[in-house]
Amino acid sequence: MDQMMTPFKSTTAGLVSVLALAACQTATSQEPVAEPDFMEQHQGLIILDTHLDTPANLVQPGFDIMERHDAALDYSQVDWPRMEEGGLDGGWWVLYTPQGPLDERSYQLTRDVAIMRAVAVREMVAANPDEFEMADTAADARRIANEGKKVVMMSIENSYPLGTDVSLLETFYNLGVRMVGPVHFRNNQFADSGTDIQQAYGGLSPLGEELVREANRLGMVLDGSHAADDVFDDLIELSGAPIILSHSGTSAIYMHPRNIDDERLRTLAEHGGVIQINALGSYLKQFPENPERDAAMRAMRAEFSTSPADMTEEEYEVYIARRNEVDAQFPPERADFEDFMEQLLHALRVIGPEHVGIGPDWDGGGGVIGLEDVSDYPAITQRLLDEGYSWDDIGNIMGGNSLRVLEAAESHAAELAAAATTE
Ligand SMILES: [Zn+2]
Repeated sequence: MDQMMTPFKSTTAGLVSVLALAACQTATSQEPVAEPDFMEQHQGLIILDTHLDTPANLVQPGFDIMERHDAALDYSQVDWPRMEEGGLDGGWWVLYTPQGPLDERSYQLTRDVAIMRAVAVREMVAANPDEFEMADTAADARRIANEGKKVVMMSIENSYPLGTDVSLLETFYNLGVRMVGPVHFRNNQFADSGTDIQQAYGGLSPLGEELVREANRLGMVLDGSHAADDVFDDLIELSGAPIILSHSGTSAIYMHPRNIDDERLRTLAEHGGVIQINALGSYLKQFPENPERDAAMRAMRAEFSTSPADMTEEEYEVYIARRNEVDAQFPPERADFEDFMEQLLHALRVIGPEHVGIGPDWDGGGGVIGLEDVSDYPAITQRLLDEGYSWDDIGNIMGGNSLRVLEAAESHAAELAAAATTE
């Protein structure tokens, strides 16, 4: 927390520091005490996150989205109270499935996991209708945010669960999916991954090209995060609508397969796209090896026969307590707010505030010292103001750009539909 660049940790903390400053000022001072309406202006922005991995927590026994959690204790970074505190209006809630074998049986099993994840998101909305609402369109998302509710759209991270049936994407569209990323850590039936050992296709597979056409037809935004550079190039070439990198970084600042070079950044912007900068430590900087921690984590995981999502509430508590023990004994090296800002400011310098946004990878491994959970968005806003960006720029960075990309996908789909009827 020492590295935090702003006094505004939260509404309450911000108010306390303003009062403290006011108390120190002499009555004759002409200097404004602080931007008095900073939090009001920040809260007035539409802030959308393009990659909320929170659905993985929704299926966790005992997790209640309406309860305030503590990231330092249970690693959770998103819930309604902290969204309120940080001014986060919602965004794209991720249906993530890890990559498995490319066979029909595995496709079916994973398809069911993805569908049940979507059901969990819809159940969250159904259980809290005054707080959350599903958004069908970008216009809908604006309306919901302006009404003070949280916007819920979904995104697919790894299209693996679609199997070889691209038409299944429409089923996910009907469940609320408005963004789709073809691939995750390893090559799959659609595309090469940025982090696999070798390439399978040199870009998209023929099935991946079908996926792009189907996403375009439905008006879903294509997400190039995790994809190999050749896949990025193919997406740019094939997609009739701008694409997004929902949680990525820049390789000019740190060379990593999850980051993108400046030339491709410019191409992305020229095609109307947006990069959402992530805050995942190992994509921001190089850390020294920590074999003792790695061994302790492996040993800890081996103690549990079920994965966290399948644990009972009691088992999960034991698991979290053991994780806390390992963290206390072998603390992980962590990146900080400045490492994140270096990435964000670089992307802003290269392609400008209409093509850059924020996608820290909350509940998916993101978060750095000073940017611990979604209550910390005001820190980013304050820092962008300090860097000279206007409130309009910040509005685009925080949500305007991602909504514009969604709108472009919607209008491209409408054009395709109109062209199809006149044929
Ligand atoms: Zn990811």
